[in-house]
Amino acid sequence: MKNINFNEVSTPAYIVDERLLEKNLKLLAQVMERTGCKILLAQKGFSMYSLYPLIGKYLSGTTASSLYEAKLGKEEMGKETHIFAPAYKEEEFAEIVSLCDHIVFNSLHQYDKFRGKTANCGCGIRVNPEYAEVEHEIYNPCCAGSRLGTTLKEFEEELSVNPQALDGIEGIHFHVMCEQNSDTLERVLAHLEEKFGKYMAMEQIKWVNFGGGHHITRSDYDVELLVKCINHIKSTYDVQVYLEPGEAVALNTGYLVAQVLEVQNKSFSLNQVETVPVILDASAACHMPDVLEMPYRPEIIGAGKPGEKKYCYRFGGNTCLAGDIIGDYSFDYRLKAGDKLVFCDMAHYSMVKNNTFNGIALPDILSYNEERGIRLIKRFGYENFKTRLS
Ligand SMILES: *Cc1c(COP(=O)(O)O)cnc(C)c1O
Repeated sequence: MKNINFNEVSTPAYIVDERLLEKNLKLLAQVMERTGCKILLAQKGFSMYSLYPLIGKYLSGTTASSLYEAKLGKEEMGKETHIFAPAYKEEEFAEIVSLCDHIVFNSLHQYDKFRGKTANCGCGIRVNPEYAEVEHEIYNPCCAGSRLGTTLKEFEEELSVNPQALDGIEGIHFHVMCEQNSDTLERVLAHLEEKFGKYMAMEQIKWVNFGGGHHITRSDYDVELLVKCINHIKSTYDVQVYLEPGEAVALNTGYLVAQVLEVQNKSFSLNQVETVPVILDASAACHMPDVLEMPYRPEIIGAGKPGEKKYCYRFGGNTCLAGDIIGDYSFDYRLKAGDKLVFCDMAHYSMVKNNTFNGIALPDILSYNEERGIRLIKRFGYENFKTRLS
């Protein structure tokens, strides 16, 4: 594989390598072929729609968290369009119905509010199996008092007051995973079946949607077990299985290229390692908010952990937020202004979350393939900052 020449890129810029994206898509397509399941792109994690034609060659369609995402998926990929939102707005509902094949409701109460207005859309209910293995509470939809999904107790209470509550429901949806392997899925499914098995077995239920959080394209992911899990649900309940990963589609396919603006003329001791603060033209707060939210330390090509190589630096954004710190890194050489840095795995949950806090410019969006090389897809400017304010 030819290397991308990051030195050609003006910064900051996200660059997605279409070869790596296609590699992920091929693996996902294999899972679809082997099981008959359908896989949708969860646009929440990756909405680089210039690549939707490529993604649409392999996947069955898109899923959305809102009207806008549904519209984007329909316009740019076509194919199947699904949606889940915790609550729908009455003003938006007719347009959602016109765009979507499946609408997933967060509760039987939400379904009741809109039933009769769903035309030919397939309607599903998001359930909460009350079992998850997510450590970060912010990503755990099964946390105490969660607003996401209907627990068995809530489900049966609603059914006891309204025995018709499930009429017209043809799907069950759950989403309780985050960056996890299929052994977690297997345990989640055991809880799901124990609680909701008798409902999944109903004649009217045509599909079960496993949500996202499946790290299928990670190198140590157990695809065989995933296939087994899908086939088990498919054959036990005679349903079409859907998966809707966001992260797994774009995992390890993109970079954020940044530049050193200033190597500060001072240092501090970090576990006895002399560390110099460095200002970049990329920001954690603006361009990689998961670094602060998750939090995690992104990899940089050629850099080591603090103390591993000779020169140690702490990278921060060019903003006024004291905590806009990307992380601590070491290099074999002294950094200087103008040096380029390449952050890895920056395709998902980056572009979709970026913002212009402090008036910081949005990174360009680029893609790379072997025939065309580097392609500038979009450059943002002052107007993009101004038009979001007034
Ligand atoms: C976030 C989300 C997804 C995608 O999750 P990933 O972790 O990116 O795979 C899918 N479905 C629903 C309902 C979600 O909220």
